[in-house]
This record gives sequence, C-alpha cells and structure tokens, in this order.
Amino acid sequence: MRKIIFATGNKDKLKEIREIAAKFGFEVESMKDAGYDLDIEENGSTFAENALIKAREICLASGEITMADDSGLVVDAMGGRPGIYSARYMGKDTSYRIKNAAIISELKDVEDEKRTARYICAIATVFPDGRVLQAEEPFEGRIAYEEKGSNGFGYDPIFYLPEYGKTAAELAPEEKNAISHRGKALRKMEAMLQELSDRGEL
Ligand code: IMP
Repeated sequence: MRKIIFATGNKDKLKEIREIAAKFGFEVESMKDAGYDLDIEENGSTFAENALIKAREICLASGEITMADDSGLVVDAMGGRPGIYSARYMGKDTSYRIKNAAIISELKDVEDEKRTARYICAIATVFPDGRVLQAEEPFEGRIAYEEKGSNGFGYDPIFYLPEYGKTAAELAPEEKNAISHRGKALRKMEAMLQELSDRGEL
C-alpha cells in the first residue's frame, strides 16, 4: 500500500483523513508517527499557501510524498473571520465552547439570511521530485443560534446545515465526510493522484 505522510498534529483531522483515504487505498502516516514532530509556522495568507508550506517542509525533511491541509471557518457577517486563524482564534488553548459562544454572541443581531458561513479546506500534495498537486473545496452552512450535537469537532456544533435541519456536529461521521470541505477536497486530490497513477507517474 502506498504511504503518504499527512502533515498535521491535529488528531481529529487525521481521523477524518484516515477514514476517507482508507477508501482510496492509501496508508496515511501522521507526521509524528513518521518521526517528524515539527511545529511549522503557518505564515501564508491563504488556506492554499499554508497547506503548501506544511507539505513542502515535511516532504523536504522526510523525502516521502507528503500531504497537508489547511482549513478553517469563514463567517460572512464577521468579515471572513476567523478564516485562516480558526485554530488560533481567541488563543489556541481556548475551548471551542468559549469560541463558539463568542461567535454566537457576535452574531446575536444578525438575521438568518446573513448568517452564512463556510468551511474551506485546501490540500496540497508535494512529491520528493518537486511536483505539487492542490485542491480546495468549500462546505456551505450558517451560524446557528445555539450549540447542538456532539460529533465532529471545533466549530461543528454551531455550523448549521439548513438542508439537513442539523448542525455538522449532529451528522454521523460518514454523513459529514460525504459533504464536508475536507471530504470533497480529499476526493478531488484522490482523483488527481489516480490520474497520475493511470499514467504511471505516481
Ligand atoms: P488548521 O489545523 O490550521 O488547518 O486549522 C483548522 C481549524 O479550522 C480547526 O482547528 C478548527 O478550528 C477549524 N475547522 C476546520 N475544519 C473543521 C471542521 O470540519 N469542523 C470544525 N472545525 C473545523
């Protein structure tokens, strides 16, 4: 089975990525399991740049095909915040209970139609020979009026999906993977890898 290093220290993401990637026949090794416990500075200005920075650094250090993602929540009524700062929003050690309550409070006077938000996920795959593949996908929703659900992670309890009448935290993991930013971006990336493989270039 082809090994890919996934450059993240985030266990929740790794779990989601593994579940999805297993279907495609890739063994995903975490950066830590591969012996790289680096704290990479994400100093890009877009999700795509940050994903590329992480994948490049670990690929260079390991000599293995490396994939990285960068994702976050973009809230329209907050001018796009927390965006690329989603993990660090209000301090990286602040609980999501507090972060989510703060977002709900900031949007307390915002009507339904203006509560639009999206998760974005950018994925980059970097090959030891320098080739780069990139994918980016959104997951559209709205900011809820209260937290609901205990699945998923992060902002999921306040990420409301009108067409399901549920928050992302009320979806089963497979349901979320089928429609999420990370699921979609990963499937796009998988299609690109498949194309390379079909041409004998993987
Ligand atoms: P990253 O690790 O720098 O990519 O930051 C990702 C951050 O975006 C996470 O720590 C969460 O705050 C947020 N995020 C991204 N995807 C999701 C998701 O699927 N559910 C909930 N929060 C997410």
